[in-house]
Amino acid sequence: MANVKVAVRVRPLSKRENAEGGRIIVEVDEKVAKVRNIKVDNRLEGPWDTREKIVAFGFDFCYWSVDPEDPKYASQEVVFQDLGTSVLSGAFKGYNICLFAYGQTGSGKTYTMMGTPASIGLTPRICEGLFSREDDYSEQPASCRIEVSFLEIYNERVRDLLKQSNQKKPYTLRVREHPEAGPYVQGLSQHLITDYKQVIGLLEEGIANRITAATHVHDASSRSHAIFTIQYTQAILENNLPSEIASKINLVDLAGSERADPSYCKDRITEGANINKSLVTLGIVISTLAQNSQMFSSCQSINSITSEGDNHVSSHSPGSVSGTRRQAYIPYRDSILTWLLKDSLGGNSKTIMIATISPASSSYNETMSTLRYASNAK
Ligand code: ADP
Ligand code: MG
Repeated sequence: MANVKVAVRVRPLSKRENAEGGRIIVEVDEKVAKVRNIKVDNRLEGPWDTREKIVAFGFDFCYWSVDPEDPKYASQEVVFQDLGTSVLSGAFKGYNICLFAYGQTGSGKTYTMMGTPASIGLTPRICEGLFSREDDYSEQPASCRIEVSFLEIYNERVRDLLKQSNQKKPYTLRVREHPEAGPYVQGLSQHLITDYKQVIGLLEEGIANRITAATHVHDASSRSHAIFTIQYTQAILENNLPSEIASKINLVDLAGSERADPSYCKDRITEGANINKSLVTLGIVISTLAQNSQMFSSCQSINSITSEGDNHVSSHSPGSVSGTRRQAYIPYRDSILTWLLKDSLGGNSKTIMIATISPASSSYNETMSTLRYASNAK
């Protein structure tokens, strides 16, 4: 798979959008999402105005999850079959992976990443896939170890979502950088898990902690990034010697991408600025990586350097592939989010972004800005 993949998913009209007489302004086919500019035509009936403007964006996948009756309807299972299985096959091969959900609050990020009990999302499905590993991905390891952590970044500060003692003084964990192991959160709890039920328990605990804080810190769950990290280590035999393949899967439910409302108090503006900064930095990092990987693949074909096949080496030292030095500077340290994910972004890692949008005319501006952001990541 390419190093950066981008998908878009359109959710159903909400009750409110329906009540407003919500007009659908988004259309998708397999790889193209189109948005009609209703600003030049506010009529609800009749042919579109001749001044109508349709803007089209190309993606790797477009999911239409607006109406379950529609044959085009993309269920949680469909999204998992495309994106979740490529996360799994990447992890089995030893890649570090980041999967991000990006979009305005209420557009379906949490639904896509976590889902509901009746409609399970990507994270639990990916965890299930790790335990019910199928033969067709690659050779089976002798054994594997799965460790998870769950954190939240709010206002450039970090909180452990799986440690009760952190609840009194949340958001006080510090990010540090180990010269070899790379960036990490000091004191973040790591949980060794042996079955799927345990992961679900931890996910539920983390989600509940996220919601609890939301009542104390104004709606923190839409203003914060949540990162669920799975450290997947496979014990293998290489030339009859025991060896390990380590991969990290980061499943990220990003903060709402809407701009900070200028009417917010000073605190909220700083907070908005921080959210914006980390989302802007993430966008820059991913698009630089996508450009670098194009540069790299062209120098690869000239010099016939192989990087993809050599997963064992690359998983231990991501970014050490020859050719990296020639590439553009990547501003990982400009935000906590990108700094923490540094060893899972770039080098020999895989990135998937799923941009979630509302189909309604009332979200025109946010939808356009989400689609622009997502297509810049390509
Ligand atoms: P976000 O996390 O981006 O703020 P949510 O995931 O909480 O948004 O979604 C907002 C609402 O829309 C929720 O009630 C959710 O169940 C619903 N929703 C979002 N995406 C879908 C979808 N693809 N299919 C059905 N319902 C959805
Ligand atoms: Mg959410």
